[in-house]
Amino acid sequence: MSAPFAIVGIDALTGERDGAVHRDWTVSVGADGLISSAGPSAQIDLPPTLPRIDGAGKFLVPGMINAHAHLFADGRPLSSIYTNPRIAGHLTRAMHTPPGRALLRRRTRQNALTQLHSGVTTIRTVGDTADEVIHVRGQIDSGEITGPRLLPAGPLMAITGGHGAPQIALIGDEPETARANTRRNLRRGAQAIKIAATGGVTDALDVGHAGRPEMPEASMRAVCEEAHGAGVLVAAHAQGREGVLAALRAGVDTIEHGATLLPESIELFHDNPASLRGWSALVPTLLACIPLVRFDPQVTGLGEVVQENARMVLDEMLTGAQQAIEHGIALGIGTDSGVSYSTHSSFWRELDLYPRLLDVDPAAVLHTATAGNASVLGLEGVTGRLAPGLSADLVVLESDPLESFEALAEPSMVVVRGERIVRPEIRRIPDIDAQLDTLRV
Ligand SMILES: [Zn+2]
Repeated sequence: MSAPFAIVGIDALTGERDGAVHRDWTVSVGADGLISSAGPSAQIDLPPTLPRIDGAGKFLVPGMINAHAHLFADGRPLSSIYTNPRIAGHLTRAMHTPPGRALLRRRTRQNALTQLHSGVTTIRTVGDTADEVIHVRGQIDSGEITGPRLLPAGPLMAITGGHGAPQIALIGDEPETARANTRRNLRRGAQAIKIAATGGVTDALDVGHAGRPEMPEASMRAVCEEAHGAGVLVAAHAQGREGVLAALRAGVDTIEHGATLLPESIELFHDNPASLRGWSALVPTLLACIPLVRFDPQVTGLGEVVQENARMVLDEMLTGAQQAIEHGIALGIGTDSGVSYSTHSSFWRELDLYPRLLDVDPAAVLHTATAGNASVLGLEGVTGRLAPGLSADLVVLESDPLESFEALAEPSMVVVRGERIVRPEIRRIPDIDAQLDTLRV
């Protein structure tokens, strides 16, 4: 239960595609945490005793949705020594001890709160170390702590030596093992399933490794069948053309990162009989890639293999994203937060990169981050717009986000499921912010 209130006289952007700014709106929130009314102030009758917040001069947007996040790390660059399999193995074992698990849960809570205070009211995680996000989701949903709506994937599905393995993956080289791993995650409470369809940038061992097909199509199909049977959507990390196509054919619902789209892939995004809903979406992640390409590898300590792979992946990802925009493919937005340079206070930076790198207008970007992402994640009846009956997930801003997405960097209030966080305090990493600021010139 939350205390009912109304925000009055505010300029509202509802999350719809038209990008209209509605002057002088009123949005009221009920004790059930839902939006009870939303519209022009002159048309909304409020009970006289209802507490009112004056929104004059401010802007209201739906809570942001981050469709691709990791919460076990904070975005400080991971040195290339972590891709050394021996070191990775040691770290993984340490994270599965009781102190390791406690540390991960603490970090997960902190990182989820940093995103919430930055205006992100819903987060889908797509690769966790173990069950730490499922655990924190339980604490939030029971009301023990205030936090964003979490859709945890648990560890992702990978092959031996594949992307994410062993740190954040369950390994299955045969379809039946991949299926059993999926069932294990679902039993523990996962609300998303993630596959590593191809190699990735962060743990590639040689140039060209990122984007190379990894999990066989038959295994991906087994994962999709199992998840879809439980009504759960499947996301696939896919950074190469063939890997994207194989994942789509297997029935994956969202392609993460992406690559140049082959004609067959474009068709499958629109009409994918093996997916849960008959269509699939693309979720590019720009912020996770740009710094690796633009920053000096001597300074970042990330190594030249990472930089070279990132360069290839970025070119492909931007081409795929532009194709998706032109072909009207469902698009989602995610930051890949937790990986090097994608900090949890940086959601606005992902939005900020879109009009700089792609032919797309800010209104479409804001729509994608709210109502668009809600639909991609199957939450269109839950959140993503300023509409009565939806969860009161709201962000109050000092300036118009369509003028500059930097307006989202410091919300003056965040509301999640009707609970107000006034003047949220955001835990930032100033030296990374200073570096990321150089991408904006
Ligand atoms: Zn990721």
